[in-house]
Amino acid sequence: MDLFTLAAINLVIGLFTAIFFGIEYRRNLTQKYLLDFSLSGCCLIMHAFIAIMRDHVALPYFILPGFINTITVVIHLLILSALYRLLQVPLQRYYLVLFATLTYSVWFLPLFQQDQFSRLLIGFAIMCAVNVLCLRLLFTSTPGKFSKVVTFFQCVMFFNIAQMLLRSALFITGKYSFTAAEPNPFVHQLGWFSLTIYAALILTGGLIILARQRQLELEVRAERDPMTGLLNRYSMQDRLNAELNRCLRNHQPMALLIFDIDHFKSVNDNFGHQMGDQVIRQVAAVSQATFRNYDLVFRMGGEEFLVCLPGVNQQQAAEKAELLRQQIEAQQIVPGAKITISIGYVIAQPNQDLDSLIKQADDALYHAKENGRNRSVAWCSGEFVFNN
Ligand code: GH3
Ligand code: MG
Ligand code: MG
Repeated sequence: MDLFTLAAINLVIGLFTAIFFGIEYRRNLTQKYLLDFSLSGCCLIMHAFIAIMRDHVALPYFILPGFINTITVVIHLLILSALYRLLQVPLQRYYLVLFATLTYSVWFLPLFQQDQFSRLLIGFAIMCAVNVLCLRLLFTSTPGKFSKVVTFFQCVMFFNIAQMLLRSALFITGKYSFTAAEPNPFVHQLGWFSLTIYAALILTGGLIILARQRQLELEVRAERDPMTGLLNRYSMQDRLNAELNRCLRNHQPMALLIFDIDHFKSVNDNFGHQMGDQVIRQVAAVSQATFRNYDLVFRMGGEEFLVCLPGVNQQQAAEKAELLRQQIEAQQIVPGAKITISIGYVIAQPNQDLDSLIKQADDALYHAKENGRNRSVAWCSGEFVFNN
């Protein structure tokens, strides 16, 4: 493959990466790694453009090799930045700008201005250093839901370092020399081809991340209620059963609360459906803020919610239920009207199944409604215990 063809392939990969990830970033501005991928595509376009131009125009030193070599390093830095964002590890990005600026100035040192061979080796050293930083990040951070993506990028980084070391070895051992009358075409092309492979692998990695992100979004959508962000009814059975089994197996208590907004129909009737929605959202937000982040809060449907509190005994459950009831009562959601909730709760007994547990909490809730609302009531060995 001649250099023109390789530059043209780089151009196509660059265009695709810049446009595709740019559009994806505009769709989802919180995923900043998409911007890094798009910018790396822009850099590849510039790289390919200069490579195509070199045969037709005499380019000044600050563009070729100064700018083109720096751009190759910037592509590596952008991928490093994207991986930091993906794995949610903080990074001061001005270090990267500083690094790129220093890289650009390196080409103007007398040694590198005079000698193509030294330029090539220092270029490899810089890019290997960036790849090593990527590997350090990939091996030390928690991959979370991106473990396959992390493995893929580890392989890409190892490949890139290996090909640069191999080419350095070939140059150092004199298997290929720039000054030779007939340079080894294989080694020469390998140099250009390696950037194309690296770019293609990075593009593939970006697409793998996007596919994984989409899959995770679908999973969240399937188990979350879109209005409140709480877990929905469909995910309730499995999650509650797992939590109940775990608590009973570890001889830990577990509390189950069901609560319902009082006279909610009149909120809709008097203030409109939109205000009703706002009340549901606010009640959901207060409940999530009240409970610990490993407690499970579900929207069972309409204005009814269920909370699972692992490790919580009767007295703690009474305190938590009262705290929630008072927190909701203290909210100013609807002007001129007080929003209250009624709560029923129960503590799981050994060998108890989920259905009977939910039924008991529901019965307690019914008692709270029957006895004036804005109350929390426990189901306790067949008795109803009122907290307020
Ligand atoms: P109670 O104190 O006995 O719970 O009385 P209530 O009026 O809260 O209970 P009821 O079950 O009679 O009414 C619930 C209402 O909630 C009826 C339904 O239209 C409304 N609702 C259910 N889901 C939503 C929703 O997502 N948004 C809004 N705005 N209203 C909803
Ligand atoms: Mg209600
Ligand atoms: Mg209801």
